[in-house]
Parts: sequence; structure tokens; C-alpha cells
Amino acid sequence: MEEVSEILKKYGFAFKKKFGQNFIADPNLLDAIVRDAGIDKNATVIEIGAGAGALTRALSKAADRVISYEIDRTLAPVLSETLVGCENTEVVFRDFMKGNMTELESGLKSYTVCANLPYYVTTPVILRFIEEAQKCRSVTVMVQEEVAARFSAKENTPEYGAITAAIAHRGTAKIVRKVPRTMFYPRPNVDSAVVRIDFEGGFSVESEKAFRETVKIAFLSRRKTLENNLMNALHLPRERAKELLALAGVEQGIRGETLSPATLGKISDLLHENGVL
Ligand code: SAM
Repeated sequence: MEEVSEILKKYGFAFKKKFGQNFIADPNLLDAIVRDAGIDKNATVIEIGAGAGALTRALSKAADRVISYEIDRTLAPVLSETLVGCENTEVVFRDFMKGNMTELESGLKSYTVCANLPYYVTTPVILRFIEEAQKCRSVTVMVQEEVAARFSAKENTPEYGAITAAIAHRGTAKIVRKVPRTMFYPRPNVDSAVVRIDFEGGFSVESEKAFRETVKIAFLSRRKTLENNLMNALHLPRERAKELLALAGVEQGIRGETLSPATLGKISDLLHENGVL
């Protein structure tokens, strides 16, 4: 097969910044990401963003089946060359963020997500799997290094936020590889990291909606106390906010960003039980 860069040139492919098109060329890195994701011959893999098919091809070799979503139809002729022989692979030309998750998962048993994500849509893609997926076992994705740090942050750090708590509710996130910007073409302005999220070992809550709302309130204004954020967001009198937090065993004057995801889960259950959320 010709070099991917030659194939891109042959079809006059123009990189589109708006789609976050920073491709990987290094075969060692591609194989390493496949290993990071724990892909084996039993795995069904969903990839978001086939690009020129470099990671798709590596996934195809290791997995049972690959379904890769790509928004940019101008990559179709390129992919039809780079994915020659990848019989277990299907490229679906559509915006992954459109359509509902039940439809995307229909006909699949459990699956693994592995992708070099387009940076402009990283958090919404992750939230889709966190909040809507039923059959996803794990998500291994290349993201900007600072975003990876937010996914796996500990409470009481600047990186800790709503997305950290949302992920911790469903499982565990770990940075498994740092990747310098020099590994991509065109070269982005930031370094990246591969983060793996396993959907096990999370915690349950009584209401998903109440949990999402509680997390939003906890980080509404990071410098304010949880009591103040609760009062402002839910229009509660101070005494009521105090009373609810005391019931949840939360000390006075605490800020949301100091509480663990599981504690936020307990507070959300309490707000739900008391008809506040
Ligand atoms: N997997 C390739 C690689 O690693 O070389 C390409 C990765 S590149 C960072 C991201 C790819 O996602 C681009 O090809 C881009 O066109 C595609 N993309 C961007 N937004 C998308 C969306 N909403 N749905 C599906 N694909 C998208």
C-alpha cells in the first residue's frame, strides 16, 4: 500500500481544522493505543473519527469487528484504499453526535470504544457514553493532555470538575499514555494523552437526573460554598439549604469541589428523597 500521506495527496484531501483533523502516522503508537484499549479477537470496537484509517486499520487487525464513524465524506476515497482487506470493518459516514444511542447500539452486544477523538467534541462524546450507553465496557481515547487530567482528577484540585464526577459515577478513568504533539500531522498546539475509562467500580444513585443537577450545582461557582450554590440554584432559604446539607452529613462552609463524587452522589440522593430535585 502507498503511504497514507501519498494517498491523501492523490485525492487532493484538504485537512479541516473545524473537524479536529490531526492524524496519527506512527505505527508503534497505533499498536500501543490498541493494546491500551485491551482489544482482542472477541472485541467489537466503535471508533469515532476514522480519518485516513490509520487507527481503524490497526483496530481491524486486532478486533473481531470495527464500526467507525466519520463526519467528513471527502475521506471516502482515501478510506476505500487504506482499508482494503479490512473485511471486519464498516465506516459509517455520519456525525457521531447525531442520532440516538439506542439506535447506535442496536444489534451490538458489549463493545469497546477506541478513538483519537476530534478535540472540539471530546467532552460531549464522552458524556454520550457516560450518560446514554448501555453496552459499553470501556472507552480508550486520545484527548488533549489537560482534558485527560480533568477526566481522572482527584477532588480539591483545579482539574476536578463536573466531568470528573460524571465519569467516576460510572467507573474509573486512568491516563495510560502521554503523547507529544509531534506525533500528529498537522501538528496541534498542545500535547495529548490516552485515557482509559472502565465502566466498572462506579456507584449508584437514586436518580441520574438529580445527580447531574447536583454536580452542576456543586461546581456552579467554584469559590462559593455548596450551601450558597444550593440556595442560588434552587431558590432555597438558607436554613433549608443548611438543614439538607446537615442531613447529608456535610460540614458547614464546605465547597463542592472538595467533595468526592460518591459524596455528591449521596447529596443528590438526599435532595431527591426530600423532593428538592
Ligand atoms: N483516527 C484518525 C487518526 O487517528 O489518524 C483520525 C483522528 S482525527 C483526530 C478525528 C477525526 O474525527 C477526523 O477525521 C474528523 O473528520 C472526524 N470527526 C470530527 N467530528 C466528528 C463527528 N462529530 N462524528 C464523526 N467523526 C468526526
